[in-house]
Amino acid sequence: MGITAGRDLRMMEESCRIVRKALDEMKAVIEIGVSTASIESVGRMVIEAEGATPSFLGYNGFPACVCVSINDEVVHGIPSGTRKVEDGDLVSIDVGAFKNGFHGDAADTVAVGLPPPMALLLVQTVYEARDRGIEAAKAGNAIGDIGSAIQMRVEEEGFSVVRSLVGHGIGRKLHEPPQVPNFGRAGRGMKLTDGLALAIEPMINIGGYRVRTLQDKWTVVTADGSLSAHAEHTVIISAGSPLILTA
Ligand code: MG
Repeated sequence: MGITAGRDLRMMEESCRIVRKALDEMKAVIEIGVSTASIESVGRMVIEAEGATPSFLGYNGFPACVCVSINDEVVHGIPSGTRKVEDGDLVSIDVGAFKNGFHGDAADTVAVGLPPPMALLLVQTVYEARDRGIEAAKAGNAIGDIGSAIQMRVEEEGFSVVRSLVGHGIGRKLHEPPQVPNFGRAGRGMKLTDGLALAIEPMINIGGYRVRTLQDKWTVVTADGSLSAHAEHTVIISAGSPLILTA
């Protein structure tokens, strides 16, 4: 949706500030031996203390406030008291907050302890790819310019971009049109307009781009078992560089 009115923008900024705070406080407790449920509880406490509601809890029946996805888990991992972070893990945390009628949504991937060099390169690349996508997200450009910029950066390293999960519009609903693929051709698709709020979120794998969903009906994993990483910001399109609300 278009966020051009001053009040709507301030409300989006507030939801996104809470998301950033939740991510930062969760990242501060990620270490070897911590359970994914205790990571989630930190995020939940921040959101509730700020008078917001966790966007993900109950969304299509999702049972938690935060998605915590480790290693070959791409997204939508369900926090668990028995799943503990191990040395070398890639831990991705994805969180949304809803306040005053608007959602914010962001994700980070953290490398714990001493992961192999290739895993560290994957994490570095997902952030760089996301930022390339954000640079391409300006009014007058097309949706395809975002995906093309992301895909180019990822494939330069020999990694792959997940196809079946995409970024999205965001605002009064968590997921709104348009879809924002992390792959594609420059110049293709809808033209970006001033005030459009987007969640730009590449999911990238060391191996192939195919994914499958576990029997818990939520956790998406790489089909080949390779490592995956995820990074996401909520941004507002403008004529120049977008406003990154979850920075
Ligand atoms: Mg999202």
